[in-house]
Amino acid sequence: MKYKLTVLLVQGLVQGVGFRPFVYRVAAEMGIRGEVDNRNDGVYIRAQFAPGQQERFLERIKTEHPPVASVYRILELEPESADRPFTAFTIVLSRSGSDEVTQVSPDIAVCEACLADRHTQPHRLGYPFINCTHCGPRFTILRDLPYDRARTTMAGFPLCPDCAREYDTVSDRRFHAQPVACNRCGPVYYADWQGKRYTDYAALLALSCRLIAAGEVIAVKGIGGYHLVCNASDEAAVERLRQVKMRDTKPFAVMFRDGRTVREYTVLNAVEEAELASWRRPIVLLEQQGRSLAPSLNPGMHTLGAMLPYMPLHYDWFDRLPLPALVMTSGNRSELPVAIAAAEAETWFAAQVPLVLHHDREIYNRADDSVLQVCGGRPRLIRRARGYVPEPLFADENVDGILAFGAEKSGAFALGKADTVLQSQYIGDLKNWETFCFYRESLERFRRLFRFAPHVLACDLHPDYFSSREAEKLAHEAGLPLLRVQHHHAHAAACMLEYGLHEPVVALVMDGTGLGDDGAVWGGEFLWCDRQRYRRLAHFDYIPMPGGDKAATEPWRMAVAYASMYRAPLPPGFEERIGQERIQRLKRLITKKVNTPFTSSAGRLFDAVASLTGICDVATRRAEAAVLLEQAAGREEGEPYAAAPDTGATLSFGALIAGVCRDMNEGVPPATVSARFHRTLAGMLKEKACALVRETGAGSVVLSGGCFQNKRLAGSLQRLLEGEGIRVYLPSVIPCNDSGIAVGQLAVAAEWLRAGKDKPE
Ligand code: ZN
Ligand code: ZN
Ligand code: FE
Repeated sequence: MKYKLTVLLVQGLVQGVGFRPFVYRVAAEMGIRGEVDNRNDGVYIRAQFAPGQQERFLERIKTEHPPVASVYRILELEPESADRPFTAFTIVLSRSGSDEVTQVSPDIAVCEACLADRHTQPHRLGYPFINCTHCGPRFTILRDLPYDRARTTMAGFPLCPDCAREYDTVSDRRFHAQPVACNRCGPVYYADWQGKRYTDYAALLALSCRLIAAGEVIAVKGIGGYHLVCNASDEAAVERLRQVKMRDTKPFAVMFRDGRTVREYTVLNAVEEAELASWRRPIVLLEQQGRSLAPSLNPGMHTLGAMLPYMPLHYDWFDRLPLPALVMTSGNRSELPVAIAAAEAETWFAAQVPLVLHHDREIYNRADDSVLQVCGGRPRLIRRARGYVPEPLFADENVDGILAFGAEKSGAFALGKADTVLQSQYIGDLKNWETFCFYRESLERFRRLFRFAPHVLACDLHPDYFSSREAEKLAHEAGLPLLRVQHHHAHAAACMLEYGLHEPVVALVMDGTGLGDDGAVWGGEFLWCDRQRYRRLAHFDYIPMPGGDKAATEPWRMAVAYASMYRAPLPPGFEERIGQERIQRLKRLITKKVNTPFTSSAGRLFDAVASLTGICDVATRRAEAAVLLEQAAGREEGEPYAAAPDTGATLSFGALIAGVCRDMNEGVPPATVSARFHRTLAGMLKEKACALVRETGAGSVVLSGGCFQNKRLAGSLQRLLEGEGIRVYLPSVIPCNDSGIAVGQLAVAAEWLRAGKDKPE
């Protein structure tokens, strides 16, 4: 028979997830000879196919692969002249060939097979760090590539003979599972308790259960950082946790014992259910309904961040504790990065909680729990970290050598290798020194891990962002070109890159803050843009922002500004809450234009309405007012306010604000007012977008910016626009908030490079 030698390059999430043994098994079953080889740019398969065999083989590779793997594309390459006929099918050992490193698996929740092995395998009975090629830590333990045990934080744990045998056996589920370990050779939990060091897992498990059951808060080391844990039904324990975290009202995420229990406390659709149970195990924001947990978990909220167990310890807790859910919140203090080192966790928590439970598998790369919500039938990432990082995003063009520094308040960076985008984990507010250090360290590590040397830099237009300064410094030191990208153009471009959009679109960017090219603070923007340039078609009315940055945390200031601007009477109760004197002082600031920049921010409009409705006058965290305003609407539909159709380049909210104030004066409940506000705003945005689509002939509408984390707004606007036959794109795998900005900057820079320019004139 005539055999054809074919070389295939499989790209996607195919490394460190049991893909090679899978290819081996399929080839063996089909009697195919050849070899499979892991390289930095993907999995190479050299195979001798009999006529008609290749199609069937490819079909099986695409459809039968291990659960965590995903195949993005399979390229057929020219065989090299040195390729000789094969006599069998073999797995070639990993080698670091080229510098095209892009594929590192994210961390994977413990799999069902491993949970079962804990009851049957003699050397792994009850073992809490069990894993296999289909599960376990990956990115968080990785120091360098190629992905071998010696380059992970498992290097210090030599394999015992049993583990070594499994590691070397092709047919074993632990064949080349780099973090493989057992009770004899692997990491252990340990803790100091009443002056003694304990390392016995059974004892530590019993102790932690006893403490949680008694209403205590404990700290425990996880995959990408420490957690603070307590009983989610125990109000006193949750309040105690707030003291430990020094956090006033921010909602805590909870871990439910299983999917059935989640359904007793929330309503969820099929997409939400699938996301919750996925191997990535993110926190999914769900609507609460039915039974309730401790009220102070999420004051003022109808939604709850929920996740399912993903480490053996989590399962062991729920086996022993008859509780529906545990609070599992990042082990950090207020806004600092989550603790990953034992010393840090001891310093922060030892005096505050009775037990700090450590383990001796070092976390090299910090990664918080990821957060997403489902809107319009698709998951939308809000915080992209554990389970997602550093999975590459395949771009539809060359992005090689571009380093994008991102924004500031939700810091994250992105780099381009060939046609793949690598996004950092969510990092946090770079204004904190510790967080900024984490940003710089991660940048350094990504550059080393992915063998990345930038030749073009991109940052925000805002010169004072810490990320922009860092970019400037590197541009100066290394003599590299630096492209400054307008914030809202970057929000739009990120979404365009995700969906492969090149034709100009109308982009609605609804956002908190971003520097505009006229020096004002932008944030309610209608852009006509492609990935290279943008034109500002329309924007929210400029409103004074008395006190500058202060206005972003004190919504009552925006309430006064909006009410004065549109000559609406302040609602009853407002003066009593804020004080006549402060209101007058603020009004003087506005008339004298002292420390009062102008803003078209959509976020500030939400702030104003949140305060006018008495829902939030002073925020304790970013976007709190907007979130509470959305939550307040509950299930209300609300009639829209009569708003005059808008024809100009600015959107005036006079009628809207007047309507809100009138309702409040007439004693309409805030829930109804919030619903009416959302409905009116969505209607106005839709009208404007439709008019602009007609005017420009744009093929589609892009929705981006942090305000679209508001599901009520995003969902209704998407439905309204689609009802008009307009194609709508809302980011899914790239966060629509500022942690997605870096990808947008990178997309814009790629387009400038393609156009043959280093930077815009
Ligand atoms: Zn497993
Ligand atoms: Zn072992
Ligand atoms: Fe933004």
